[in-house]
Order: sequence, then C-alpha cells, then structure tokens
Amino acid sequence: MSNTIQAKLQGIRGMPDVLPGEAEFWELFEEAVRSWLKSYGYRPIRMPIVEPTPLFKRAIGEVTDIVEKEMYSFVDSLNGELLTLRPEGTAGCVRAVIQHNLIAQQPQRLYYIGQMFRHERPQKGRYRQFHQVGVEALGFSGPDIDAEMILMGARLWDDLGLEGIKLQLNTLGQPEERARHRAELIAYFEQHQDVLDEDAKRRLHTNPLRILDSKNPAMQPIILGAPKLIDFLGEASLEHFNAVQQVLRDAGLPFEINPRLVRGLDYYNLTVFEWVTDRLGAQGTVCAGGRYDGLIGQLGGKPAPACGFAMGVERLVSLIRDAGGEPLPAGTDVYVVHQGEAAARMAFRVAEGLRDNGVDVVLHCGGGSFKSQMKKADSSGAMFAVIIGDDEVAAGEVSLKPMRDEGDEQKRVKIDDLADAIMNTMLDCDEEEEA
Ligand code: ATP
Ligand code: MG
Repeated sequence: MSNTIQAKLQGIRGMPDVLPGEAEFWELFEEAVRSWLKSYGYRPIRMPIVEPTPLFKRAIGEVTDIVEKEMYSFVDSLNGELLTLRPEGTAGCVRAVIQHNLIAQQPQRLYYIGQMFRHERPQKGRYRQFHQVGVEALGFSGPDIDAEMILMGARLWDDLGLEGIKLQLNTLGQPEERARHRAELIAYFEQHQDVLDEDAKRRLHTNPLRILDSKNPAMQPIILGAPKLIDFLGEASLEHFNAVQQVLRDAGLPFEINPRLVRGLDYYNLTVFEWVTDRLGAQGTVCAGGRYDGLIGQLGGKPAPACGFAMGVERLVSLIRDAGGEPLPAGTDVYVVHQGEAAARMAFRVAEGLRDNGVDVVLHCGGGSFKSQMKKADSSGAMFAVIIGDDEVAAGEVSLKPMRDEGDEQKRVKIDDLADAIMNTMLDCDEEEEA
C-alpha cells in the first residue's frame, strides 16, 4: 500500500444515502405498502432503471419540466444509443406491458417500488434521486377503478398512522375538449402577456395548460381568472367525473375539487388527483396520479384505457418519522462471544444451529478480550449473550447470559438445549409484555 493520502470521494448532490437508523423506517414503509397492495390484488413488476430516451419524450411530452430540463440522458458509448435514467415509472411499465402483451387476455393491476432520477434543485423533499411506489391499473375504462385507486390512498395513510393528508381532485376531460379549452386559454393569456414569465411565454403556444401549473406567485391572479376546463366538458366526461365523486362520497372520503390541478406530465385525461399535506413545507404532494387512456396507443400498443398513481417515498417516510412511527427493533436476539481456537469453531456451530431454529444471531468477529466482546454484546441490543470459552468447550456446553433482565443469572446450558432455553425465555417475555 502506498502512503499518499487520497481525497475523500463524495456522493452526487441530491442523491442522498439512506443510513441505518433511517433505513429501518423505509423497510417499515415498504412492508406496509406491499401488504396494502396485495390486499387490493396488485402484482409486482420490475422494470430497468434505464430506458431509451425516446420512450420518455413520447410518453411524458416534449414540453414538460421533466423532458425539457430534468432528465439524466447520455449516449451509450458502445453503440451510440441515447438512454435516460427513468424520471418516472409509468412510461417503462407501459412499455413492458406492450412488449410482453400483458393485457391481451385480461386487465392488469401492477405495482413497482424504486429509484427515479430528475435533475432538479435539491431541497427538503426534492431530490435528484428519489423513490416512488408506482401503482398502475391497465385495461380498465370505468370510473370504478379511478375511485378504487383513490380509496386505496386513504387506507394506506390510515395503515401508516398518518393524518392530515388531503385529497384534491380534478378532471382533464378528453383531448377534443381540451383542444377547445386550449384555444380559449391561449386567447386569454395573450391578453395578459405583460404578466407572463419566460416559461409561460414559451409555453403559451406549445402547452398553455402547463401555465396553470406554474408556481410563480406573480402569475397566480391571472391563473385564477383563466377559463376553466370544466366548462368545456361534454356529457360523458362529466358523467365519469361524477361517478368517481359518488364513490368517494359513499365512502365518506372528503375531497376538494381543484380546477388548477393539471399534473406535470402530458399523458393524463379525465380523472387526476393529488394527496397533499401541509406538514412538509413547500413539497406537500405525497401522491399523485390519474387516468391516461391515450398512453398505451401513443407508445405503439393496441389502444387500451389505464390509470395509476405514484407516491413519493422520501416524503412519506419523513411524515412517518415526524408522526413518531416505530421502526422494526434494530437489535438481535443473541450475541455470541468466544475466545480460543476451539471456542471459535464451536461458536460458528452454535450460531448456525440457533439460526436453524429461527433465532437471530450476531457472531462476534474480530477477536478481543471477553470484556470488550461483552461490551459489544451489550450495545448490540441482544436479549442474550452466549459465552463460549475453554471450559464450555470441554463440557459441550455454553454459558447463557440474559442481557435485558437484571434478575436473571447467567447459567450453563447444553448445546442441544440452547435453542429451547432461548425460545422459552423469549416467549415468557412476550407474554409478560402483553399482560
Ligand atoms: P412537483 O410538482 O412537486 O415537481 P411532480 O408533478 O413533478 O411534482 P410526479 O411526477 O407526479 O411529481 O411524482 C409523483 C410524486 O413523486 C410526487 O407527488 C412527489 O411525492 C414525488 N416526487 C416527485 N419528484 C420528486 C423529487 N424530485 N424528489 C422527491 N420526491 C419527488
Ligand atoms: Mg416535478
């Protein structure tokens, strides 16, 4: 080894590590999410993190924040293909569904959990690598599935013990209805050119609906006064919207209709919704989604209706922590300390034997005195230390020391009886806690 001091390497800005202590909350969240999805009949799907760039351009839309300025795109130096780290999951999921003909026989309820990448300005609740739970229902056309997806959200917040997450709802109608609204919108904003910012001016003729999504405070008054899409909807669109609302009312789920809710991606139609909290500062949307009936056709599949939503994992985990959620206990059941060559060999046997019986074991590695090993056993949070020295080896026994209960003495136990002794004490403890 050379003696030169190497500069410390840093991770990429906006792509944080999730360290132990925090990561347990993520596991807690993911477990709750998986069982919640299963209870609604959703099945897992796993797509690659990298896809051909044209997929996202076609799915999300050229004139969107994501495609215009947030995508991590690069040329594959081996074959010159243009690739992009996925900024969201729906495009890849739909690509996979088309490619593998998944909805030829029957509609599908699918979900995935994973990293997404967007080159945004990092801040609390907004990162360059972040995680989403994506939930997609493909091949369903009625308002029933839209409503079920919304009810699902309410149940998850409840499962996670989260309060104060409110539902906002809107409809984007159908493309023809939007086209008529769009013409009126352009005419309206043209009369207010002086207040439009650069983004808005650029989008005025390409994607004026996006202007409604602007976060620029100076433009809020004219956005509020803009023509509303709902006034351009035909009977079928209104009926769909009303049917969704009916289910929500029947379920006693409160919601607010927000005519300015247009979503940051182009592929939505009819129902759109967001779940919003005021406990996360500026980044208050924890879940967003809606119907995207045009996307499958747009990506080259046989046209079929679909809808879905995505949740921001970082934001939800942060809410769970703030609400005082308990992560899984970090400790192990048993810490095995040992000294001497024969004891070390026996320690491996004992540790594996306990694991065969479903006991969690940390085997001390790295040597050291009994005293220093016992300190590690203590800080590991283990219920028991199993101690093995020359005496124990000679007798074919181990010493079992309870670490959490002051009253209990250390005792010798035959190796064959060890698992039972540990299991019985742990069961007793559980019963005491329940009593
Ligand atoms: P915003 O308007 O806040 O930029 P968006 O419309 O771009 O949100 P979606 O594409 O709908 O967000 O993503 C769904 C959810 O994923 C969001 O509601 C949010 O919870 C989460 N999310 C989106 N972008 C980020 C990010 N950069 N960092 C962390 N979470 C994010
Ligand atoms: Mg965004």
